[in-house]
Amino acid sequence: MTVHFPFQNSYSALPDSFFARVAPTPVAAPRLIKLNRPLAVQLGLDPDLLETAEGAAILAGKTVPDGADPIAMAYAGHQFGQFVPQLGDGRAILLGEVIDKDGVRRDIQLKGSGPTPFSRRGDGRAALGPVLREYIVSEAMYALGIPTTRSLAAAVTGEHVIRETALPGAVLTRIASSHIRVGTFQFFAVRRDTEAVRRLADHVIARHYPELRDAERPYHELLAGVVARQAELIARWLLVGFIHGVMNTDNSSISGETIDYGPCAFMDAYNPAQVFSSIDEMGRYAYANQPRIALWNLTRLAECLLPLFSDEQEKAVAEAQDILGAFSEIFSTAYQAGLRKKVGLFTEREGDDTLIQDLLEAMAKNQADFTLTFRKLGDSAVDDSADARAQFMEPAAFDEWSGRWRARIALEPQSAAERQAAMHAVNPAFIPRNHRVEAVIQAAVNDDDYAPFEELVQVLAKPFEDQPEFAAYADPPLPDQRVLRTFCGT
Ligand code: AMP
Ligand code: MG
Repeated sequence: MTVHFPFQNSYSALPDSFFARVAPTPVAAPRLIKLNRPLAVQLGLDPDLLETAEGAAILAGKTVPDGADPIAMAYAGHQFGQFVPQLGDGRAILLGEVIDKDGVRRDIQLKGSGPTPFSRRGDGRAALGPVLREYIVSEAMYALGIPTTRSLAAAVTGEHVIRETALPGAVLTRIASSHIRVGTFQFFAVRRDTEAVRRLADHVIARHYPELRDAERPYHELLAGVVARQAELIARWLLVGFIHGVMNTDNSSISGETIDYGPCAFMDAYNPAQVFSSIDEMGRYAYANQPRIALWNLTRLAECLLPLFSDEQEKAVAEAQDILGAFSEIFSTAYQAGLRKKVGLFTEREGDDTLIQDLLEAMAKNQADFTLTFRKLGDSAVDDSADARAQFMEPAAFDEWSGRWRARIALEPQSAAERQAAMHAVNPAFIPRNHRVEAVIQAAVNDDDYAPFEELVQVLAKPFEDQPEFAAYADPPLPDQRVLRTFCGT
């Protein structure tokens, strides 16, 4: 039996300027270290066949499966505010697209599969650590219900990549509803290729916003659609304490999925100014800056679309501004509604926003663990559990707040058990804590031991269940386990 990929490629049928045709560079000794079997089934692939030597060779980029049309996509992007007119897939190759069990078109992309015409000075490769990191965090985001690219497989190449030291090389198979970014539009806009911008916009509408096809002003609606999805996505990030780390326009997806897990991290103690990425020296992509940056990125997208809006530039700009103006409202509505659920409110009353803001302020002042405070608050709904209180350096700060909270929830008819269940359904017990992710990577890279990786992936697949046998995974780091910096590892 050979592995069959039911490819139905559409991006590679676009004009030649959209990509470069390039095959993965074969590697020495492919070995599959993880296959996401349920995802394989969802994509119409046979997981048993993917686990054979032939499957591993495909997933490590050694052989190209039948029907693939491998390409590296062209894109540009603002990196930390600086525009780079040509970036592109320098270490990723799109094998092709399949239609999944729900009828959704999905890209199958190899990341770390060798150089492409967009590699610039890079080697086109990925190290094992960052591959495992992306696998763990993207699948954790999926389990948390947050739109994201996913990970089908991780394979080692049997070769080393040279970073600061020699590290084992690996390839991640990334699945996305597409890899089209704000930077993809910028690539054509900066070349003043309006026809290509229109072609790309039409492709995006057909693929991600099909309901807009017959709209009177489809390109305006497209911008409005991306604004709404990004605003809702960033609200979801904030509600679980996620910090992307490199919100460059080339890492900002048109479909509204979280993409490019580099130096990303979940915060432990709540701190709105939190930054982990070693390359984010100015804190541009700090936790609480993320909504502002998303709007900045969307403004870059709007600039690309102006020629499609109107020939009169002033009119086009005014229309774009109007659409971008909706971002704050969509974001705040999603964020505030999410926060209300996190504190167990079923209804909306005057004073709720202040009540919630006061909790966040007390948490920041008291270095309360973001995840555990909300999770344990769910238990406080049923009894006088002191677990939420224990997250606060100065527990009195919690007592003052919880008195007001108890008075507020008493105004609602729901039972304590109902409230606890509703809170546990939105407040995860388990997130990919940095110290756990680092420990898993160390075991794999230093000792070729993947058991910790397997266990962490398993725990994070059910973030809202208590899983008492894995309770330690919910714990914040001890002071000497704290990870202060994360690296993109390119
Ligand atoms: P990222 O930081 O992953 O968003 O990547 C930014 C840009 O650098 C993209 O164009 C990547 O394709 C490129 N890049 C990152 N790492 C490598 C590498 N090892 N080899 C070639 N290009 C790379
Ligand atoms: Mg990127």
